[in-house]
Amino acid sequence: MKQVARQARAEGRPAGFVPTMGALHEGHMSLVHAAMAECRPVVASIFVNPTQFGPSEDFQKYPRTLAQDSKNLEDAGIDTLFAPAAEEIYPRGFRTWVNVEGLSERLEGRARPGHFRGVTTVVLKLLEIVQPQKAFFGRKDAQQARLIRQMARDLHLDSEIVVCPIVREPDGLAMSSRNAYLSPEERRAATVLYRALDGARRAIARGERDALRLVAAMREVLRTERLADPDYVELVDAETLEPMTRLRGVCFALLAVRIGATRLIDNLLIEERDGAFVATL
Ligand code: AMP
Repeated sequence: MKQVARQARAEGRPAGFVPTMGALHEGHMSLVHAAMAECRPVVASIFVNPTQFGPSEDFQKYPRTLAQDSKNLEDAGIDTLFAPAAEEIYPRGFRTWVNVEGLSERLEGRARPGHFRGVTTVVLKLLEIVQPQKAFFGRKDAQQARLIRQMARDLHLDSEIVVCPIVREPDGLAMSSRNAYLSPEERRAATVLYRALDGARRAIARGERDALRLVAAMREVLRTERLADPDYVELVDAETLEPMTRLRGVCFALLAVRIGATRLIDNLLIEERDGAFVATL
């Protein structure tokens, strides 16, 4: 992979890069299409990164569909699929980690200790191997994208971090490889994340600016779904990820909700533009 990437750079064609854990869906493919529109060659990676899973999480049963993924990526026209083995990425004796302090400890980081240390370490390694001009991430994982941007800035990485919109199912559920775990009944219940965020979006359009009231209203919607067990519901500043009391600048409404045994996340982007607030699902 390093040789291919080095050759492309020598020819003045630095790559666009889409890192994934596979079990590809249209959310992933939207990143591939964004990369294809801006860069050539395009490299995608598939690596189910063991270090970002906690000991009681779903590393073993995480869906692995490499043959189908590889066909989809080829049909989309990418140049290289990088699918390393865990022993290549973490050889015996591996002991260097990168951690974005503070931002990695809240929200997802609180619920999943060590998760972001695994994410930022593997993303740094992948960026070092591929050395892309641009790397593409989804806003579905808003905190992750924020951390990766911070890491790129703090470590003077040459790659530009591009964050792409959330791709949703027709009923609003954000696409996720973990949606495959949901039973039919849970799949119906899972739309409650979208309904809660959409309620907040509509309240903001009506002029609501009080973050605490927006959080309370989202919790209210989540309470209507028997199978939903909220982990966190927060309205935070997009830079600091700290909770806000009133909307200001750019912020996120962030949700993590257990539907049965499956933990789902979703978010609403809220941006102040000329004194008005625009909320994007
Ligand atoms: P994953 O395979 O879950 O690690 O995701 C790989 C990349 O795809 C990450 O940058 C995710 O944020 C992005 N992604 C996952 N689901 C979606 C979605 N529904 N819409 C947009 N991007 C997504």
